[in-house]
Amino acid sequence: MKSVYMDNGATTRTHPEVLKAMEPYFLENYGNPSSVHSFGRDALQGIEKAREQVRKLINARDPQEIIFTSGGTESDNLAIIGFAMANRKKGKHIITSAIEHHGVLHPCEYLEKEMGFSVTYLPVDKTGMVAVEDFQKAIREDTIMASIMMGNNEIGTVQPIKELAEASKDRGVVFHTDAVQAVGNMPVDVQDLGIDMLSLSAHKFHGPKGVGALFVRKGIKLHPHMHGGAQEKNRRGSTHNTTGIIGLGKAAEIAGKNLPEKVEKITRLRDKLIQGIEENIDEIVFNGHREKRLPGNVNFCFRYIEGESLLLSLDLEGIAASSGSACTSGSLDPSHVLLATGLSHEVAHGSLRLTLSLFNEEEEVDYIIERLPGIVDKLRQMSPLYQSKRK
Ligand SMILES: *Cc1c(COP(=O)(O)O)cnc(C)c1O
Repeated sequence: MKSVYMDNGATTRTHPEVLKAMEPYFLENYGNPSSVHSFGRDALQGIEKAREQVRKLINARDPQEIIFTSGGTESDNLAIIGFAMANRKKGKHIITSAIEHHGVLHPCEYLEKEMGFSVTYLPVDKTGMVAVEDFQKAIREDTIMASIMMGNNEIGTVQPIKELAEASKDRGVVFHTDAVQAVGNMPVDVQDLGIDMLSLSAHKFHGPKGVGALFVRKGIKLHPHMHGGAQEKNRRGSTHNTTGIIGLGKAAEIAGKNLPEKVEKITRLRDKLIQGIEENIDEIVFNGHREKRLPGNVNFCFRYIEGESLLLSLDLEGIAASSGSACTSGSLDPSHVLLATGLSHEVAHGSLRLTLSLFNEEEEVDYIIERLPGIVDKLRQMSPLYQSKRK
């Protein structure tokens, strides 16, 4: 049976060169990077090299602006809760959007419920886009921070980050972006975009799982949430995940090489897949924005069927896909992102996300275009809703 992995929005295959770079830090340079002996120094040197590799990928000014974390979720939590707690005397209002990853939404809800903050959740239009005007209007005297994601993990919409960061700067608001889907998969330049804080995660661009980073512009104060060690200049205690950090650094270096060419290849495959689905299947809803979109993201709703049964049928054909976010599958609630774009519960339930990476090939796209219409048709034949509609 064929095996096609198109769930790269959930996680990606580790690049073989990343694994190779990590190996010596398990077997030879395994010292604690905080130790003074040569084993420790070698590990520390590896970590500082990785910090530079990550700095370069996002064009931060100074490697010290990079804090290593356990992944995207921790970076989001550290940015939002860490900044809010360190700056709560200046104001207790935060702006975010309705379509953020739970790594951002849940810390915001926590601050609301437990810490007396107020949070504005900006709506999006039907392409999943936040309006810069709405954002500007939402800024108040007591707004201290805004957090708007760069590329949406479900529908792929890429927000006008530069304009939003500029509007924040004008009003003295610190701007954070969850760029976990974007970094390594499209060009991201924190200086050009005017970003103050940015979350990234290695496993979304062929690095290992369980390691990420938070970019924090120099001068911004955060309260640490891990107490117990002086690592990361007192900003994140605990022994460094040396091997993971080495892997993140290598993945960043690889991602930065020929990025425009890779983006072009993945975008071409994405558009072929979108076109193939639209030409061969009716009664579908295209989700997200046509142009302002993550290079590897395809998301449709298929009316009259359940996303979950679609996933199972695809799996039987060797195709690994997702109904939206890997973090919410298993719950019966439809995606908060799709509902925010104005879809009904019924339509939102029939969602399918196919996400591509560097390792996908054109023949895999062709295989999906060949199999998907038959699967959708078969499921619709079993759907009472579809049958009654055709009478
Ligand atoms: C995957 C993802 C996260 C979580 O990252 P982890 O490293 O898995 O914790 C956060 N935000 C977005 C947009 C993501 O896609």
